Amino acid sequence: MTSDAPSPRAALAGIPAYVPGKPPVARPGVTTYKLSSNENPYPPLDGVMEAATKAASVMNRYPDMGCAALYAALADKLGVPADNLAAGTGSVAVLYHLLQAYCDPGDEVVYAWRSFEAYPIAVTVSGAVNVAVPLTTDARHDLDAMAAAVNDRTKAVIVCTPNNPTGPSVTHTEMAAFLERIPSRVLVVIDEAYQEFVRQDDRIDALAFCRARSNVVVMRTFAKAYGLAGLRVGYAVAPEPIAASIRACALPFGVSTVAQAAAVASLEREAELFERVDAIVAERVRMVAALKRQGWDPPDAQGNFVWFELSADRAGRDRTADFAAAADLAGLMVRPFAGEGCRVTVGEPAANDVLLEVAARFRTG
Ligand SMILES: *Cc1c(COP(=O)(O)O)cnc(C)c1O
Repeated sequence: MTSDAPSPRAALAGIPAYVPGKPPVARPGVTTYKLSSNENPYPPLDGVMEAATKAASVMNRYPDMGCAALYAALADKLGVPADNLAAGTGSVAVLYHLLQAYCDPGDEVVYAWRSFEAYPIAVTVSGAVNVAVPLTTDARHDLDAMAAAVNDRTKAVIVCTPNNPTGPSVTHTEMAAFLERIPSRVLVVIDEAYQEFVRQDDRIDALAFCRARSNVVVMRTFAKAYGLAGLRVGYAVAPEPIAASIRACALPFGVSTVAQAAAVASLEREAELFERVDAIVAERVRMVAALKRQGWDPPDAQGNFVWFELSADRAGRDRTADFAAAADLAGLMVRPFAGEGCRVTVGEPAANDVLLEVAARFRTG
């Protein structure tokens, strides 16, 4: 490369790599399962498949850039005006658009860590400064420390609830107290990618905060509970000026006709889809109980995944790699975070059974 080659923005040098969940390694005689990306194990519902297929027949046309049918269906479902919605190719894209709309170089974005690995990437791409606040020892957001990290340069705070990859949710009471401490000029992004899986008292009503405040943005996705990860569609619910700013930064025609149609068809079939969510939650409860009997102490799991805390052993050996290798041998692909732990998606019951066997063997070593 010559020295006069075009140079990208300096910020790009600091972008951490997104490590995607890998597909399982094929092993003769072993059924393999992908438990590394928090995907929904159920295949598409017939009606959703039909709507998507029909939409595919007009692939020679651009999609509806205004996402009119999707916004109408969401507005109806959520009880918010369509002006308060902004869709994108997954809620990660919506976050990129939001940060692009609001962050100048040097602005700070506060989030918990370990949390969703897309955050540091999105913040860095936007030119803003990452302020990562460690989780508490029970793998929850340290909302006090996060509030204390807000200063004059802070543009946004991201709260991931339930937290990917550790699992705990923020309660409504905790969120209310937190918001009281955040100046209204600071965006508060509540990332609710897994909200459909939450089963706890004092459950957060993020949309209520969004209605009552001028700075709260709620992000949701069709990728997890609705099982449309491959179609790339998510959205924000936000006060009208913020939603308009997000839409202004969105790529034109990003959300495909197929994705829009599948999302609308999914909203029409929530009853059926949420039965599947209930089944996944029941499996999660079963797994956590079994893991506790094995002697594990998983953090409160409120998403469609379970966190295995695995710091290095006394000899400094990385146990996350050992755990992932043991799972792999048994046909399971999990998501290791070196030196910290492994995240395992709640899959079909047969996959979860194998995981429990792997976990039991790992404990008895
Ligand atoms: C999966 C996930 C999302 C959504 O991702 P998209 O597929 O882009 O909609 C957002 N936030 C978190 C924390 C996630 O785990």
